[in-house]
Amino acid sequence: MKSLVMRAHGGLDQLEFADLPDPDLTSDDDVLVSLEAAALNHLDLWTLRGLPGLTLDFPHTLGGDGAGIVRKVGSAVTQVAPGDRVMINPGVACHQCEYCLAGKHSLCSSYGLLGEHCPGTLAESIALPEPNVVPIPSLPRGHPPLTWAEAAAFSLVSLTAWHMLVERARIRAGETVLIWGVGGGVAGTALKIAKLFGAVTIVTSSRDEKLAWAREQGADFVINHGEADVVKEVRGITKKAGADIVVESVGEATWDRSLRLLGRGGRLVTCGATTGAKVSIDVRRLFWFQWDILGSTMGGDGDYREVVRALGLGHLRPTLDSVHELSQARAAFGRLAAGDHLGKVVVDIGGRAREAATAS
Ligand SMILES: [Zn+2]
Repeated sequence: MKSLVMRAHGGLDQLEFADLPDPDLTSDDDVLVSLEAAALNHLDLWTLRGLPGLTLDFPHTLGGDGAGIVRKVGSAVTQVAPGDRVMINPGVACHQCEYCLAGKHSLCSSYGLLGEHCPGTLAESIALPEPNVVPIPSLPRGHPPLTWAEAAAFSLVSLTAWHMLVERARIRAGETVLIWGVGGGVAGTALKIAKLFGAVTIVTSSRDEKLAWAREQGADFVINHGEADVVKEVRGITKKAGADIVVESVGEATWDRSLRLLGRGGRLVTCGATTGAKVSIDVRRLFWFQWDILGSTMGGDGDYREVVRALGLGHLRPTLDSVHELSQARAAFGRLAAGDHLGKVVVDIGGRAREAATAS
């Protein structure tokens, strides 16, 4: 099968369009999916560059997000059948450890991600466990059906942002949420989720076109963090109270400001450290203001069911930046690495990424 692989850790020049053996079921619980589309995430770039403790067999197929058609199922599979059109949850858990049994799948002691710890979705087929696929929902009347590209782009950022805001930060209607870097996939989805929950949203970006997009998505306040003093702006908007929730994935470059604009009883929830991982905190402010500093990564199967249900109700529709051919996927990675994209960078595998992904 055709696949986009990395030959070794390094830069984009390590990416190659290659022919690999077709995958097959490896257990009774497995499902074989022929992929119509896949979507890129920054995680794919991190995997390409190399992550501490991550040892891969090369060539390695990247990609966590994807959507396609079930071709074959193991004898123990009950929830999907050949011919079903499915989206993929990139998080692979054991479903047996104490964390999995408690529904906290992203804490699983053997948790891994497609494309990072095991072969990914930038290929014509993938074999994966049954809990990692879910039928693509039909949308309510009046909504155009999801395309394959949209179905492929949905899962990772939606699951991540939902787990951050709903499960970890316990967002409530009327709260003020500050989201850094709204052009990013998780941040942009966090905005949609915060609006869905009736929060007051303040978003930042250094790019005016990304702020204009955020306005279209319902952002209540937008701040160009390249020009304005974000702390001062947030204190003004909240009449000095500060934000109830700060959504972080930036790390060192924003951390101090995140804490300065966090209100009493505020929650800072983080899923990333793109500018650096070492941050500090004044413990006196932590206890006096009774802050919660929350880590979050991916989400559990319950979170995934909830985001897919929200999608089926017509919410959280992915924003797409561009669609690239699988053979041109290196250019897709280049677009992601450059940071100019707004929305998801998608790879068309089956040749019909712009077609409806649900059979009507
Ligand atoms: Zn587990």
